[in-house]
Amino acid sequence: MLSRDSAWTIDEYQKVFNLQLHFIAIISQDGTFLKVNEETLRLLDCEHSELTALNFFSVIHPDDLQVALNFFHSKLTAGNLTIRCRSGDQSYRPITWSIKFDDGKFFASGTEVSEKVLLEEKLSFQTLVLESISEGVVIINSKHEIIYVNSSEVALFGYDDEELIGKPISILNAYHEEETERYLREVTNYVRTRGMWQGEWLNVKKDKTKFITSCRVTFLKLNGEEHTIIVHRDITGRKRFEQIREALQSRFKTFFEQSSVAMQIYDLEGNLLVVNKACCHLFDYTADDMIGFNILKHPSVELLGNLPYVKQAFTGQEVEIPAFYLDPSMYNRPGRARWLEAWLSPIKDDNGRIKEMAVFFKDVTEKVETHNQLQKSILDRKRFEDRLSMAVKVGKVGIWEWIPGSKEVYFDETIQTIYGLELEDSKISLKEYLGSVHPDDRDLLLQQVKESQEEKRPYLIEHRIFRKDGELRWIQEAGTTIFNQEGKPVLMMGTCSDITNKKVAALDQRYLSEASEILSRSFNFQENVQTMADHSIEYFCDACIVDQLKPDGSIERIVVSARDQKVKERIKDIQVKYPQRYGHDHFLFNTLVTGKTYFLEDVQTTWSALREKHGEEYVQDLSFVNPRGIISARLKGRDSLLGTITFMTLEGSTHSFSERHKHLAEEIAYRTSMSLENSLLYLHSQEAIKSRDEFLSIASHELKTPLTSLTLQNQMRKRQLDKGEGHSFEEAKFRKMIEADDRQLRRINRLIDDMLDIARIRAHRLTIHKEVFDFGPFVTDVVERVAPQMEAAGCSFTLKLCEDVQIEADIYRIEQVIVNILTNALKYGAGRPIRIELEKFNYKVRLLVHDEGPGINPEDSERIFQRFERATHGREISGLGLGLYISRQIVQQHDGALYVVSERGKGSTFVMELPR
Ligand code: ADP
Repeated sequence: MLSRDSAWTIDEYQKVFNLQLHFIAIISQDGTFLKVNEETLRLLDCEHSELTALNFFSVIHPDDLQVALNFFHSKLTAGNLTIRCRSGDQSYRPITWSIKFDDGKFFASGTEVSEKVLLEEKLSFQTLVLESISEGVVIINSKHEIIYVNSSEVALFGYDDEELIGKPISILNAYHEEETERYLREVTNYVRTRGMWQGEWLNVKKDKTKFITSCRVTFLKLNGEEHTIIVHRDITGRKRFEQIREALQSRFKTFFEQSSVAMQIYDLEGNLLVVNKACCHLFDYTADDMIGFNILKHPSVELLGNLPYVKQAFTGQEVEIPAFYLDPSMYNRPGRARWLEAWLSPIKDDNGRIKEMAVFFKDVTEKVETHNQLQKSILDRKRFEDRLSMAVKVGKVGIWEWIPGSKEVYFDETIQTIYGLELEDSKISLKEYLGSVHPDDRDLLLQQVKESQEEKRPYLIEHRIFRKDGELRWIQEAGTTIFNQEGKPVLMMGTCSDITNKKVAALDQRYLSEASEILSRSFNFQENVQTMADHSIEYFCDACIVDQLKPDGSIERIVVSARDQKVKERIKDIQVKYPQRYGHDHFLFNTLVTGKTYFLEDVQTTWSALREKHGEEYVQDLSFVNPRGIISARLKGRDSLLGTITFMTLEGSTHSFSERHKHLAEEIAYRTSMSLENSLLYLHSQEAIKSRDEFLSIASHELKTPLTSLTLQNQMRKRQLDKGEGHSFEEAKFRKMIEADDRQLRRINRLIDDMLDIARIRAHRLTIHKEVFDFGPFVTDVVERVAPQMEAAGCSFTLKLCEDVQIEADIYRIEQVIVNILTNALKYGAGRPIRIELEKFNYKVRLLVHDEGPGINPEDSERIFQRFERATHGREISGLGLGLYISRQIVQQHDGALYVVSERGKGSTFVMELPR
């Protein structure tokens, strides 16, 4: 019963509910007031019926709304919420609501708490700041009760703020309560004198884990009361850092072990603590071998001169040891000697104190040896250059260098000149260098370089390049490669010279020898020269002309070669239209007289001079040929002028003349001259052979005629004697017979004498026995002896002599000459008078024999004095063509002269001059 009686009825609840001086409300999750008591209706100043239209959140002060919303949304089963709520008079009243959540509703009971809210209002401007920082903030009052915590602090310690507000600060400290009090007192005193305390604080979380925070403590005055504000620095970051550092150390261990850089770590006494694999490999030691090595005490360090560096590093500096040579044989250990570089890097703690020493090694053997080789090659080259610099300068040999793999080639000044370049830093890009090589030669060059490297031998190549100005040149390039110990190429160097002139000279030489071959192909000179001229226009000119000088001084154009047929015709026509002779002042033929080669690079420069000399029309005709360059050289035999050879370049052609072509033309002229002379000699010898054949037939005939007549006479006389008619030879008849025989015998004798003389002359055995005698009476004697023959030939004669002409001569040989001239005169001038004159002049005496015979053509006047030469052909007048030859030989042996002055049809005068 009692228990039943003790249970509240709803009515009783209702009455008590309404009597409450607290504010009581049941609120839905969205803030709607479901039920409130009378006191709350009074606060809100509304009727029951108006209640549903009101919302809990709408009466909360806007500044407190967020706190309220957070509270509601967190759906905590129970808690306190202090907020300002709007009353019926529109003023806000601070109310602490004790709220319980149950069955989807909030059951709230509130009391007005004006003083506390006032404090919090004061704090509110700072609250925002305090809430937003990541450090934990807690404020305690003078009783050391917590009156404020920010969200970071709450999160840090694992509490709700309601759980902390109003609690003693000792709840957060891991010290004992008394200890906390003591510390707080100390800290408070410190703050009072210094303004702020900073240090570490041992804390405890809600879940009882202890942790250290870095702490700052200062005072804050609120409402005249002294509060303490404590800020906890979140040291989780540092913790994380420490974790990372641990992870890093394990990673570093891997890196240390696996790195290809040789590493060692020493303690502060210099004892080796640890080495990595790369280091063991570098020194060919095991790690165990090395442990115990002391970098500050080992003699090798000092021996290598590295101790000062090591000592310096142990003072805390980063130190680099330059390349040093480590030879294991120093310690009687096997292994290869190496060049090393080292770095010493002190390892320090957070306070900057050296803990350990890290040493790194790098194997620089290849680098050092390459460098040494380069140095050596530079030194070698210096020595080489000293010796060769003169030769190089004179020989115009350039030097180049290339480091394999680099994009630039070094060119010295000479090569730059050869390539027509002016390089600022003496370097040409590889691309530009290869670009200047003639495309047809490029592959060959690269191939040569490759092969020379593979076979480790120098290379030498001739190839063409295009200079910067586009000119094509021939160069000779030599190169060699320097290799390091591993056999890798480290440097290529070589020389380069311009061999264009040599190459061109070789081509010229080839042309000349081909020309020589052509010129000696046959005895047909004209044909040979024509082929040679055609060959020349293939090689260096556009037209080639050969003019032959005739014995009469006229000039005959015997060969013309030109690419263009019309030009060829015009060149021929000009010589026909304007015939030139030896001695004419003509630009092409002056060379005949002077022997100086005519060389004109460009006709343009001399048109006006040519016009002045040869007239407008000539220049017009010449301009149809349109020459640009002209070279005219003389053709000359051993002792006769033969003509000229002329080469021309024409306007618009690719050929042009330089000094080189002048020499070439002179060479060709020389070879053509020899060829022309040879063929003339050949023609001559052909004619000579013909004359000799004729001589033989005449000689046999001449001998046979008197012999036949003698034989016939003899047979006739024998027959008469046989018949017994010997008595019939009367004296007169007998005499006549003897005289006739005598003539025939003389004729035979003379022929044989002549032939013997010829043999003597040929053997240089014609002997002269000189004696002094008076020439006048002597001539008279000789003429008288020939007189019967002259009479027989029907020739009258006159003799005009001067007196007292002493000469020294071979009397019989001179008689032979005079008889010969007189005999010819009566032979060729039979029936006509002969005039013989002897005259003195200067230191000479001159005998003239004039006949009125047929005379001699001027062109034959020399020829008749040669062997077997006769101006009279056939056998109209007997003779061997020997007399005048022998006579001249005799006279010349007396230092005299024998010649003829004659004109065809006007008789001849033979003149013999002898010194007195
Ligand atoms: P040959 O025995 O033929 O007379 P020569 O040596 O005495 O030989 O003369 C050479 C040639 O010179 C002769 O064949 C002849 O043609 C020419 N000749 C020589 N004397 C005279 C002359 N007085 N008048 C014309 N022709 C002459």
